[in-house]
Amino acid sequence: MYTKTGLESEVNAVPVRTRYAGSPTGLLHVGGAWAAFFNWLFARHHGGAFIIRVEDTDRTRSTEESERAILEDLRWLGLEWDEGPDRGGAYGPYRQTERFALYARYAHALLERGAAYECYCTPEELEAERQRARARQLPQRYSGRCRDLSAAQRAALAAQRRPAIRLRLADFGRAIAVWDLIRGRVEFSPQHLDDYIIIRSDGTPLYNFANVVDDHLMAISHVIRGAEHLSNTPKQLVIYEALGWTPPQFAHLPVILGTDRKKLSKRLGDTAVRDYRRRGYLPEALLNFFALMGWYPEEDREIYSLEELVARFRIEDLGKASPVFDPAKLTWMNGVYMRRALETDPGRVVQVCLAVLLAEGLLAEPVAPEQRAYVEQVVRVLGDRLKVGEDILTYGDFFFREVTFDPAAEQQYLRRPEVRELLRALADRLERDGALNHAAAEAAVRGLAQERGIHSREVIHPARVALTGKTAGPGLFELMELLGRPRVVARLRAAAERAG
Ligand code: GLU
Repeated sequence: MYTKTGLESEVNAVPVRTRYAGSPTGLLHVGGAWAAFFNWLFARHHGGAFIIRVEDTDRTRSTEESERAILEDLRWLGLEWDEGPDRGGAYGPYRQTERFALYARYAHALLERGAAYECYCTPEELEAERQRARARQLPQRYSGRCRDLSAAQRAALAAQRRPAIRLRLADFGRAIAVWDLIRGRVEFSPQHLDDYIIIRSDGTPLYNFANVVDDHLMAISHVIRGAEHLSNTPKQLVIYEALGWTPPQFAHLPVILGTDRKKLSKRLGDTAVRDYRRRGYLPEALLNFFALMGWYPEEDREIYSLEELVARFRIEDLGKASPVFDPAKLTWMNGVYMRRALETDPGRVVQVCLAVLLAEGLLAEPVAPEQRAYVEQVVRVLGDRLKVGEDILTYGDFFFREVTFDPAAEQQYLRRPEVRELLRALADRLERDGALNHAAAEAAVRGLAQERGIHSREVIHPARVALTGKTAGPGLFELMELLGRPRVVARLRAAAERAG
């Protein structure tokens, strides 16, 4: 077992270089961002380098658009990298499709050492083998037909076909131990090892091979990645050994669960960083939230600045237990950051809300100064209700759209015979008076209540429903001032038509 001191001394021995090696086959998933963040934190904590490598060998699924989107989201999160496909570095290129010559070179080295061999089996032959194994309920492994071909047999086959390259593994003969910084020693028995393909016959490399070549050539010191790769690690260690390379240290993060304790999926809500960005979450809140998934600081505290996280982060504090991705907790945490921003930098909140409004098509670029000022007012009026940017619509949609009536609110406050006339009377008053500001709105409402000998809330409640469609929200007089006279009068009259 490693000890904490042993680990620390290892860390000090080599320059820390970590990487995020995502495949550009979609948007950045929260699980990927979470792993990237721990790699980033670890590198920053040790004054090391954080590298982005694009694992795009699956050419049917990889797209440039996805690569762009992933980099954009990582940058939005604030996980700046020291080397990567867009900015180069001393260990490039950083896209696997630009490194094929390197893979060929090391595959050749493995062939020369007898650690790999050329396999001439066709896909049809392999499929037939698999079917035979299935029929006999045997494990579906490669038969090893090409493992020990004679030179003459190989030459005959090479005249007709291009070979794939397989790693010689089935006869490895001993257990392989992975030393994991989170799990300790994990042993894999040799009977599950199969001679797997490292280079296809078309020359494309496979993940387990390209990953090793790159981690070694890029001098990666620590591989921090998802638990789904733990079973790949022994297959990779064999390559390190065969090439005489020292492997990096490994830490396999636990699998993230949804609130239903099953593997996180879209079933329970958004799983792409882009979704949270679009909905108006703040990157620093997401990072704080990610930190507390799997990292358990000793004290009982939840809010940490990024600087604090960098200073405190220790890989030994990572747990083996699966963390739960709880969107409600994320929203709560975002609310904490939004409240802080409202006090120290309200422009930030405005920016986040503007982005939501633009995405919804309720505003268009360029945003005119008076539109921006209006959004600033709405933000001020909604205040603490804004836990995420999209709350500007959850609680203040009526500032930007026609009123949508909450059926319960309408039932309770508009479906009354006296309300129709009351709303009309309020509209008449407001139309008569001068500019509609807070004071004038209040005077009109209270004046009307007094004239009718009723409590002012009997005017306030239906007026609120008429103007907003809801029973709760910001102060009525404030929102009337913000909506302005034409909209207020028109909405009161329209609601009067529905009332009764
Ligand atoms: N391309 C792999 C993935 O996205 C990288 C795994 C690793 O970090 O080694 O899962």
